[in-house]
Amino acid sequence: MGNLEKIGQITDLWLVLLFGLPTENISPIIGSQISWINLVLLSVIRPIAYFLFFALPVLVISLGADAWLKRRVLEWYSLGHRVKIVFLAITAILLSFQILVVIPVSNRLFFPDVYPNWSFAVLLGIVFGVGIMIVSGVLFAIANHCLSRRCPICHQQMDGRFELGKRHCNQDLHQWLIAHY
Ligand SMILES: [Zn+2]
Repeated sequence: MGNLEKIGQITDLWLVLLFGLPTENISPIIGSQISWINLVLLSVIRPIAYFLFFALPVLVISLGADAWLKRRVLEWYSLGHRVKIVFLAITAILLSFQILVVIPVSNRLFFPDVYPNWSFAVLLGIVFGVGIMIVSGVLFAIANHCLSRRCPICHQQMDGRFELGKRHCNQDLHQWLIAHY
C-alpha cells in the first residue's frame, strides 16, 4: 500500500497545483473518506449538469461567435489573404477568454468543494482575459467600420455578404479562395 499512498500524495500535489488551493490548507483528496451519496453527486450528477447545461451551451455559443466574426472579417476585402491572420487572432482571443475567464468562473460555481476560493492568479487571469476581450472588441469594431464591404480597388461600399465568386470592378474578391480549373 506504500506505493499507492505515494501516488495519492503526488496526485494531491498535482491537484493542488492545478486548482491553486491555498498551501496551508491541503486536505487529502485521495484517501479521504467520502459518502456514497457525495460520490454520486460529485462524480456523476454535477459533471452531467456541468456538461449538459453549461459546457454544451458554451461550446455552441463560442462556435457561433467564431463563425459570425470570421464571416464579417471575410468582408474586409482589402486585406486579401491576410484575413487568415485575423482568423487566427479571433481563435486565439476566444480561446484565451475561455481559459482565463469562462473555465475558472464555471469551475468555482459548479465545483465549489474543489475550488473553494479565488486565487490571486485566477483573479489576475480574469481581469486580463476581460481586458483582452474589451480591447479586441473595440479594435474589431473600428476595423469593421473602416474596411467592411469596401471594394479594394474603387473603395466603394458594396451590398450583401461575401460569397465565393463575388466580383467588383471586374475582379474576383478574395481571389486566393478560388481555384481555377
Ligand atoms: Zn470596385
